[in-house]
Amino acid sequence: MAIKSVAKEAQEIGLASDMIELGARLQVLQAETSLSYDRLARLYREVKGCSPPKGMLPFSVDWFMTWLPNIHSSLFYSIYQFMAAHTPCDKSRALVEAYRLYLEQSSAGRLEVGPDEEPVLSFTRAWMLLRFFDSGLLQLSQCERCKGGFVAHAHDPEAGFICAICRPPPRAGKTRASKARSTPKSPASKSRKSEPAKEPQARAGGHVSTSVDVPV
Ligand SMILES: [Zn+2]
Repeated sequence: MAIKSVAKEAQEIGLASDMIELGARLQVLQAETSLSYDRLARLYREVKGCSPPKGMLPFSVDWFMTWLPNIHSSLFYSIYQFMAAHTPCDKSRALVEAYRLYLEQSSAGRLEVGPDEEPVLSFTRAWMLLRFFDSGLLQLSQCERCKGGFVAHAHDPEAGFICAICRPPPRAGKTRASKARSTPKSPASKSRKSEPAKEPQARAGGHVSTSVDVPV
């Protein structure tokens, strides 16, 4: 059995605790640290005061293309890229710090942010987003109007691309607040509710729909 560095272990426990606080699922922690399942589950209970949720992470690439998740994911990914490129953070730490900044930015200026209100982009989804980029399923496309980079399917043509901020769908923002308040907090029902919302896409060009269940 390999001897594990105590300092390295302490670092991993710190990282895992930060991730749990931000809402990470156990599968994320297992992928990001070398701590055992039992230790992570114990740590989860200590930090959150409840057992970790079970089950697969059934997140599809297409979720990131619906208009509001697309804006939030693009914001998060831009922050992440900055953190990864311009700070000494490694990838896991950059994810944590970028997600904290995303939370700050996404609620800035909003008057009615309830204490229980869930962010549009959960930590686990943010983590999935990075994996989708790493595996070449997603790219950042530049909006022709605002020149911002937005999450898009890999290999989608960039010519004529207009982002969801410059060209929001007609129903944008009309149902979200009320929906968020009435939506139950369980992650399963939440993702089911938001995923089939086939809002008109504020993007040019069609794409082949890809839905990927990622076993972790
Ligand atoms: Zn734009």
